[in-house]
Amino acid sequence: MTDTTPPPASLRLRIDAAALAQNWRVLDRMSGSAQTGAAVKADGYGLGVDNVMPALLDAGARTFFVAHWSEVADVARFVPAGQIAVLHGVANLAEAAYAKATGAIPVINSVHQARIWAEAGGGNCHLMIDSGMNRLGLEPSLVGDPAVQQLQVDTLMSHLASADEDSEQNESQLAAFRDVVGSVEARQLSLANSAGIALGREYHFDLTRPGLALYGGVPRPEFDGRITTVAYIEAAVLQMRDLQAGDRVGYNARWTASEPTRVATVSQGYADGFLRSCGASGALHHNGTVLPILGRVSMDMVIVDSSDSDVREGDFLSFSCDLPQVSKASGLSQYELLTVLGNRFERSIKTG
Ligand SMILES: *Cc1c(COP(=O)(O)O)cnc(C)c1O
Repeated sequence: MTDTTPPPASLRLRIDAAALAQNWRVLDRMSGSAQTGAAVKADGYGLGVDNVMPALLDAGARTFFVAHWSEVADVARFVPAGQIAVLHGVANLAEAAYAKATGAIPVINSVHQARIWAEAGGGNCHLMIDSGMNRLGLEPSLVGDPAVQQLQVDTLMSHLASADEDSEQNESQLAAFRDVVGSVEARQLSLANSAGIALGREYHFDLTRPGLALYGGVPRPEFDGRITTVAYIEAAVLQMRDLQAGDRVGYNARWTASEPTRVATVSQGYADGFLRSCGASGALHHNGTVLPILGRVSMDMVIVDSSDSDVREGDFLSFSCDLPQVSKASGLSQYELLTVLGNRFERSIKTG
């Protein structure tokens, strides 16, 4: 008998479900009387829809945002499709037909999309207004178009471009959104992403749409100390080695030992989203000891200084996704850090 079940992975992503639920509750409280949804696009910001949905549902989230139609089925395993909003809207009749078949709600972004939705039979939809980001959403000047006026709009929404900054653009987008509100009949209104929630009550309307901060991101100082880290990486040590002074490490020999050094080669590389810029000043941890990264990150491996630890081959080293801190050190955005996490991780809920 041969067992073809793959062995346990040498790379794990542990999701602290309690921290995730707590972050949602913090954002819900900060959202005041508005309801609080959850953006779960890009596979729950890289953490895995299967891992984040139960915690978000437990905490109380009821409206979920994805970008692509391909993301609907995974989320629909946890909630009725009517609670899923698809931000990219309906680009063609095939997407509209899929929306009708599944019951997921398209976010209509243009007159073209409004016509496609009508052609497919119409029904409940959301409507995105562009209030100044010039990315996705209907031009305010076009809300009077008959195709738009005949829409059956559940949530009228817009999206803030600079909510993570104290920019005058926030107020100008708020004003632009308010200008449109009277011209379209809608059941409810929604403007704020994570950062927008911290901008105050005028930005909350009926429904907020946090993503990043749920998963441990801190887009504004108002969240400092309130938002908790959710993702933890654990990577196995593949090999230990003792270096002499003068020995060089990794691609292009970017690090040279100045004294005898014990190093560990670890099963995590840039193909796993651990980009070279994370290696520059980064470190892994073992039982409270810091193991600085040496030289360049490879595709599948990284080498760390383990002189101060008793780590052995097969042990797992950890890396806490303290997003504000890693973002500052690496120059990558907090969003990028999460969403580039690869698919070689064994993703699971962190226990203990
Ligand atoms: C991604 C997204 C969100 C969530 O934004 P965060 O900054 O991650 O909180 C909300 N609304 C829209 C339209 C989005 O595209």
